[in-house]
Amino acid sequence: TPVLAVVGRPNVGKSTLVNRIIGRREAVVEDRPGVTRDRVSYDATWNGRAFTVVDTGGWDPDARGLAERISAQAEVAVSVADAVLFVVDAGVGITDADAAVVKVLRRSGKPVVLAANKVDDARTEAEAAGLWNLGLGEPQPVSALHGRGSGDLLDAVLRALPATPQESFEELGGPRRVAIVGRPNVGKSSLLNKLVGSDRVVVDDAAGTTVDPIDELVVLREREWRFIDTAGIRRRVREASGQEYYASLRTATAIERAEVAVLVVDGSQPISEQDQRIIATVQEAGRALVIAFNKWDLVDEERRYYLDREIERDLVRVQWAPRINLTARTGWHIDRLVPALDAALGGWETRVGTGALNSFLGRLVAEHPHPVRGGKQPKILFGTQPSTSPPTFVLFTSGKLEASYLRFVERRLREEYGFVGTPVLIQQKPRE
Ligand code: GDP
Repeated sequence: TPVLAVVGRPNVGKSTLVNRIIGRREAVVEDRPGVTRDRVSYDATWNGRAFTVVDTGGWDPDARGLAERISAQAEVAVSVADAVLFVVDAGVGITDADAAVVKVLRRSGKPVVLAANKVDDARTEAEAAGLWNLGLGEPQPVSALHGRGSGDLLDAVLRALPATPQESFEELGGPRRVAIVGRPNVGKSSLLNKLVGSDRVVVDDAAGTTVDPIDELVVLREREWRFIDTAGIRRRVREASGQEYYASLRTATAIERAEVAVLVVDGSQPISEQDQRIIATVQEAGRALVIAFNKWDLVDEERRYYLDREIERDLVRVQWAPRINLTARTGWHIDRLVPALDAALGGWETRVGTGALNSFLGRLVAEHPHPVRGGKQPKILFGTQPSTSPPTFVLFTSGKLEASYLRFVERRLREEYGFVGTPVLIQQKPRE
């Protein structure tokens, strides 16, 4: 889906506005000094169109050089987003920090929607009109707090969002989109360089207007692949503090834009928390996953022993992900990547027919009925798979199935149909 990045100074009401746009649910916390969030992107829909909201607000506003840091925030937003929602406080007007953002946004050529927030009444609305001066087009007066004007704002957002790369590529059967992700120094850029070889084609973003090339098209096994946000891999983010936050922002949005993620892990080092967080991001986004253990030249017998234990302990949740060992530096085993990507994408797009699914579910229920609870027996009545990418199942049930039973169903589905390299979602609709 297309990506909308929300940019603005602390206290202009970004978080409230983001909450209003996504309409609820996953609480976006208010800007607090020193808070870095794991979650940076949220699903939103308006008038039937889905888009992803990236909240760039999780950095430390108390640090020195506010203007400098906010323009860095804007740069990241511009590089990952299809359109930018720039939030200013209509009551306060334009500060130096805002002006720094305007510069970055103008230079980028990205579509910008200017939200004049805190317009709670008609009087402030007149003040908002002064924001035409910024040269970013019509200011959209809005009260994030009360909801005033938020419908018009969302209409403007939809107009600014282009037909997405995703949509247009799917229609055209375009190249597969791959995100290479992982901690710093695990060898992502070495891997990319080996893959790219001499076939490097730099691709501008959809609008074709940004300064930095974002994606690269590479021919592997006679097919084109689109590697997402390679600028983020090739060019390290400069900011000293907040760097981790920007890195995770880039990672999350790259995953969002990709169909399949390659998590590069340094095989010579223990599997880390950060690796696990990236895995969780891939799962939450519902993308296919391949895990590449790099620096295999440094993995000796002893390390191998511990790595196997770590895989058993830390990667159980994603046992289904193809794992490959390689040495990016020399290119050893690098040819194993494409078959792994193909397997994962194949699993991701697997569709099970309704007839086959229900005879499978019938057998499953007969062999392994749900345990009786409170004198009742929850039961699967009927199932369908309404969508792929990732495979998503809806089970119509009598009574509510327990989480452990749902896990059992997932396990059996995987045994039956594979679903290599992909999360599988199972929803239940109890009929009671
Ligand atoms: P990135 O930060 O994930 O992009 O990592 P880089 O590609 O910049 O690599 C970080 C360091 O690891 C560099 O010094 C590389 O030369 C080294 N490196 C990358 N791949 C391998 C590998 O397969 N084996 C070994 N021994 N070193 C590697």
